[in-house]
Amino acid sequence: MPRTLIALVLASLIAPAVSAAELVVYTERKEPLVKPIFERYQQETGTTVRLLSDGAPVLIERLAAEGANTRADLFMAVDAGSLWQAAERGLLAPTKSAALEAAIPANLRDPQGRWFALSQRARTIVYSTERVKPAELSSYEALADAKWKGRLCLRSSKKVYNMSLVATMIERLGAQKTEQVARGWVANLATAPFADDTLLANAIAAGQCDVGIINTYYLGRLQHDKPGFPVQVFWANQDGSGAHVNVSGAGIVAASKHKAEAQKFLEWLASDAVQGDFASVNFEFPAKPGVKLDPVVAAWGPFKHDEVNVSVAGHRQAEAVRLMDRAGWR
Ligand code: FE
Repeated sequence: MPRTLIALVLASLIAPAVSAAELVVYTERKEPLVKPIFERYQQETGTTVRLLSDGAPVLIERLAAEGANTRADLFMAVDAGSLWQAAERGLLAPTKSAALEAAIPANLRDPQGRWFALSQRARTIVYSTERVKPAELSSYEALADAKWKGRLCLRSSKKVYNMSLVATMIERLGAQKTEQVARGWVANLATAPFADDTLLANAIAAGQCDVGIINTYYLGRLQHDKPGFPVQVFWANQDGSGAHVNVSGAGIVAASKHKAEAQKFLEWLASDAVQGDFASVNFEFPAKPGVKLDPVVAAWGPFKHDEVNVSVAGHRQAEAVRLMDRAGWR
């Protein structure tokens, strides 16, 4: 073996040990979605990224309990309300990064830099392509019309995605009007609310209901696996506020001992080279504008997004929960 080659082989063997950097991510985003990307970071930089996955409420309590002793460097969640909660509890460090500020639109990150979106997830109307014409649809609010009596499916109000949707509606329409809409939706239900969005989409396909509100990536998975799946996306509120978008995102843990490394990793996740894969693996939209979409996602066409800062999902969450309860949304 030539000496230079031996030197290269040795260097590559030694490299991971020399840069002993390691980051720990407490993640609500599911392991199969993030693990390949974390491994890629390790290959590119030598920094190992370990993860601990659980629901956001559990991870937030854990971070709070561990305090200064935590091993966590980053907190990753799949809802703006959860990111907001972690920030409110003082668990995330404000981060000043020109790269992150340039990559992530202002409405998709904490104004104080405590968290940044890494993907966008639209929660909009879906309909049966067999029983509904898109021209019959317009807005979330219009699904409260008596026309949809016995034809609407919803997910449980216990799911944070619905809390966030309702929170942004309160911000936009006021509590009174939002409650009226929620009551209308409940009156139009074809069946009891579902435990998840996939069940809901399947119920529309099976003819149990004709319209519903879901995160589009659930439908993306079904359309990808079952070509011709008879449910399609309708972009809500295109003549007004735009469709509701939520985020998955991350922030640097306040007690992290590797903040500079953690920031580098976050900047890498927000870069052009990574944003496409981060979103596409789950049929989501990249947080960074202009990044190529998965073909299933691109087929839904461009749409107008609600531009409200997603942190509204956090600070109006409690109000949204009470409102849904009053409206009888289980
Ligand atoms: Fe989800």
